[in-house]
Amino acid sequence: MPSLADFPRHAPAALEAMVARIFVAAGSAPEEAAIVADHLVRAHLAGHDSHGVHLIPRYLDDLAAGRLRLNTAARLLDDQGALLRFDGGYGLGQRVTAEATRQAILRAQQTGLVLYSVANAMHMGRIGTYGEMAVAAGLAALLFVNVTGHEPCVAPHGGIAARLLTNPLVVALPYGGSDGRPFLLDMATSQIALGKVNVANAGGYPIPPGTAIDPAGRPTRDPAAVVGEPPGALLPAGLHKGYGLAVACELLAGVVGGGGTIQPGTLRDGTTRNNLFGILFAPGRLGDPAAQRAEAEALAAYLLATDAAEETGPVRLAGDPEHVAGTERRRLGIPLAPATLEAVLAAGERFGVTRTELLGLLAA
Ligand code: NAD
Repeated sequence: MPSLADFPRHAPAALEAMVARIFVAAGSAPEEAAIVADHLVRAHLAGHDSHGVHLIPRYLDDLAAGRLRLNTAARLLDDQGALLRFDGGYGLGQRVTAEATRQAILRAQQTGLVLYSVANAMHMGRIGTYGEMAVAAGLAALLFVNVTGHEPCVAPHGGIAARLLTNPLVVALPYGGSDGRPFLLDMATSQIALGKVNVANAGGYPIPPGTAIDPAGRPTRDPAAVVGEPPGALLPAGLHKGYGLAVACELLAGVVGGGGTIQPGTLRDGTTRNNLFGILFAPGRLGDPAAQRAEAEALAAYLLATDAAEETGPVRLAGDPEHVAGTERRRLGIPLAPATLEAVLAAGERFGVTRTELLGLLAA
């Protein structure tokens, strides 16, 4: 079975140009195409290929089916100073969420604290991207996102049937990571992503123990028992604790944010929609920024000085794997499975861009 390292690598800027060309051909204004291309390529640079260019055919299927509305900006429905409520209008999630987050950042730089929500966005992609925007502006971010639009795949703790999706959350601070970098916890609330089960199923290898159950509720490592018919389910991360966080995402983003939860009355038409509930704040307004950073760095050093456990070590901090992937991929390029590239080229061809032109951009 080929590994990632065997796949052809592509320069990030070239891949970004190719992706932007496809979205322009599909009808996006160049500015919108640039936002989504940048987001998808950054997901690869963070090592999260599950949130990269392989999503393009899905997004363009959504466009053809009338579920996705290109050239839709985030709409500010309500401005109460430190409370901002946005509607995503079923536009590209990467665009509307970046726009809402940018406005919330500008406001938080004045007020010190902003609570904002974004309802009715299409797939927002890698949620850590919005945490990175906040820390780049010197702010901290707490982001809760729920997922709707398709059948659930995660069981509630104690149950055997899927009732939730992989509801992600982010905690981002300008300090507290390794080597003085930001702390960026960006995680799904399921043990593993559904995409990883699909990859294992296609490759015919088992999924890690303790991550899923079969339709009868028995622990399984067989991916076909999870994504087959009838389906099994993924388990929540950390038993009842991840389950609690997943429900918190539903309540904060789906109920308070206003876009709806995963309960069956919310539209399920086979796509992925996201709602976001976010808090941005200036940590330096609660204390001396230099002292905060020094304390965070002392904590990081203390944690990292632990000896490595045999199974899971060495000790790392949230944001480390993404940093390592980024360093390697900026140098060597982004590996893409040939089948993934093929599907992306075919998606472009559907909108009249030739594969010669796309491959030319990729080779530039
Ligand atoms: P993951 O399990 O790879 O990483 C989760 C977090 O743990 C990251 O912050 C990472 O830095 C940290 N981490 C990883 N290994 C570590 C270690 N050994 N020590 C300390 N920290 C470590 O990520 P995931 O949960 O599979 O999520 C992947 C991506 O999927 C995220 O970017 C998330 O935003 C995205 N996502 C999006 C949606 C959506 O609907 N838009 C849904 C689910 C997930």
